[in-house]
Amino acid sequence: MGAATQIKQVTHANVVANSDQPNVLVSTSPATGRKLGEVWVTPPAEAEAVMTRARQAQDSWKALGLKGRLAVMRKLKRTMYRYTDLLVDTLVAEQGRPRFEALIEFWCTIELLAYDIRIAPRTLAPEHTLVPLVPHRVHWVEKNPYGTVLVIAPWNFPLLLSLTPIFSALIAGNTVVYKPSEFSTQMGEALVKVIYEAGVPREVFQIVHGAGDLGAALVKARPNKIVFTGSPTTARKIAAAAGELLIPLTLELGGKDAAIVLEDADLDRTAAGLVWGGLLNAGQACLSVERIYVRCEVADQLVAKMAKIINEQVRIGPGEAPETTMGAITTDAQLNIIDSQVREAIEQGARLVSGGRVVEDRAGRFYLPTLITNATPMMRIVSEETFGPVIAVIPVSSDEEALKQANSTRYGLTGSVWTGNRARGIALAKRMRVGHASVNDHIVSASVPSLPWGGMDDSGYGRTRGREGLLDMIVTQVISAERFKPLPRELFWYPYTPLKLTLIQRAIDVLYAPRWLDKLRALVFWQRRER
Ligand code: NAD
Repeated sequence: MGAATQIKQVTHANVVANSDQPNVLVSTSPATGRKLGEVWVTPPAEAEAVMTRARQAQDSWKALGLKGRLAVMRKLKRTMYRYTDLLVDTLVAEQGRPRFEALIEFWCTIELLAYDIRIAPRTLAPEHTLVPLVPHRVHWVEKNPYGTVLVIAPWNFPLLLSLTPIFSALIAGNTVVYKPSEFSTQMGEALVKVIYEAGVPREVFQIVHGAGDLGAALVKARPNKIVFTGSPTTARKIAAAAGELLIPLTLELGGKDAAIVLEDADLDRTAAGLVWGGLLNAGQACLSVERIYVRCEVADQLVAKMAKIINEQVRIGPGEAPETTMGAITTDAQLNIIDSQVREAIEQGARLVSGGRVVEDRAGRFYLPTLITNATPMMRIVSEETFGPVIAVIPVSSDEEALKQANSTRYGLTGSVWTGNRARGIALAKRMRVGHASVNDHIVSASVPSLPWGGMDDSGYGRTRGREGLLDMIVTQVISAERFKPLPRELFWYPYTPLKLTLIQRAIDVLYAPRWLDKLRALVFWQRRER
């Protein structure tokens, strides 16, 4: 079944898995509970057929050449621009998110495409290399596509996080099988519409809808490469299955990101940056600020300033309402995780400064923006990903203690240091065990298309975006050919004569003997000296 024919009903809105019918994913707005649309589920038994179609289409997509593919991608950029409203409206409805934030996500995504198109010719060009040992031959490195790339995406930031690997995979000459989250299928459908309208052939890019069982079946169907963005729990399952089949993986996983605030920080700016960094997308961001280690001297002031900003500037509500600055929580499961972590922390002695509960008097799923102090390392609110609008502030007595605690979880995605002393900030940032460490900002580097994105440890491995992101979608192939008319025989071939042996010994002496005298002696004297 082709991707487009799977759509039973397409709306410019959100699809959430919550259906009585097992073969349909029904979409409801997390902010209003309004039904938005539904799509057919792709049966896991079809995974093989989907993958076969993708494999068969790959040769012709590669044969189009980089120039040809970039022409399609330029058209995709124009089409994306033309469909700005469709994409942004879908984000707002599906995620229950303020339009302001949806527009930022759209901007980052189209800018990423513009960047990838710009750097592709140079990044993917073959690299010639001269090998002095065999100067009569020419060698170069071709940057070939893997073949078929499986992209498994999460429900948060479904535009940026889906299209990041899709852009680079297609540009590099791969075909793509894309499984959006079961909680963001309408965004997936909106993307498909735009991508097909730009002229990407239907077999080159296929969308399939379903949950984990479909994802697992797709992995088993042996794509040539997998880019997974999601939780470490799912990543472990995928890595185990992919490991069995030796499929290369790029994993973009969760975070428990920490900010360190020093006593010399500009507290007004810091409070504003950290509140935004913690509450963007209602905290449903892998890179959101979840822990703040602040020097005791300024802890109370920082908390007071953050609480004031939350009270005065954070307005929860549906994304469509212009006054909304913080949207909904996408799934019931996520709402339960957030609420249980907060309740548990309070029972264990944490102090609630603001928020701390589910909003009961609305149709949608909302959680109050929450600020907590007196949290301890043993609490789940400090050690496990919360993925919600909750920020824990923990006073520390030294920079070293802040750093030690910041580096104490298994995660390593982003981190930040807030200080009036740039050099002190950079020195601490370099020691944070994360993929992105910033001084006096937390999130902005993640939106820069030229910077490689990714984490370490439980936050995953591999990189998307930047030059690394494009190179992540290729496998190198060395081509070696004669430069001139071939020699009758190469030096290393049979027969192994005494003359050839001496030549090789002399060459090793000349190249690697540590003393110049020995190098010279090897050149001048035929007889080899004992070492
Ligand atoms: P998830 O792991 O539950 O699901 C992600 C995707 O995996 C979905 O499409 C899901 O259907 C699929 N899936 C589930 N089980 C599978 C299986 N066994 N085999 C194959 N696929 C399977 O994650 P989520 O709840 O959608 O997203 C939230 C998580 O993603 C958080 O941990 C968040 O931090 C992380 N995340 C990371 C980044 C990053 O760039 N590092 C960005 C956004 C989100």
